[in-house]
Amino acid sequence: MNEFQEWKNVCKAKQIVKVLNQRHFKASYVATRKEAKEKLIGMLEEGASVAIGGSTTLSEMGMVEVLRNGNYQFFDRYQKLPFDPDIVDIHRQSLTADYLITGTNAITKRGELVNTDCTGNRVAPMIFGPKNVIIVAGVNKIVDTLDDAFKRIREIAPMNSKRIKHETPCAETGFCVDCDCKKRICNFTTIIHNGIKFEGRIKIIIVAEDLGY
Ligand code: SF4
Repeated sequence: MNEFQEWKNVCKAKQIVKVLNQRHFKASYVATRKEAKEKLIGMLEEGASVAIGGSTTLSEMGMVEVLRNGNYQFFDRYQKLPFDPDIVDIHRQSLTADYLITGTNAITKRGELVNTDCTGNRVAPMIFGPKNVIIVAGVNKIVDTLDDAFKRIREIAPMNSKRIKHETPCAETGFCVDCDCKKRICNFTTIIHNGIKFEGRIKIIIVAEDLGY
């Protein structure tokens, strides 16, 4: 990336931080994913219970390893469990965690957060449950409008389906066909319009680089 693209990313990141704070989120700017990781770790108290939303952003930052090795009560959704229902139990426990850390599928220029889930285990606690929600997002998540956010989600969903090995048409073709199969991953879509109800609960770290997809 050349210096002008980097400059553009910094401008985009700083502008969306301003908009998000006007919408009563607690947003902050960092230049790199390394800074985002340090900032995020600094926001977690030792001993706190922490849940994580499925996120390539957080995977790229190495946050699962941090939480596994740190002094936290980590509701580890990635651990190997003998039965599927056990992981649902972890998702249930996550609803009462001190912290949910997660990415977001899209942020509109007006400051709305748009997300789609398979089971709802990420979008539900983003809205209510955990005392604190910390969202990390690169500038690639910023879109113009809600329609652009929905379009973005349809474009990235096939990659998610492939990543989590769901047998969906899009995991074969790479394109969404608005499927009707049992393994469909696009079942629950939320728009968080603002952070006004529980001021300060949703904290957003905006990174001036592309992160996740
Ligand atoms: S609706 Fe179905 S085909 Fe479309 S992205 Fe979601 S899982 Fe894939």
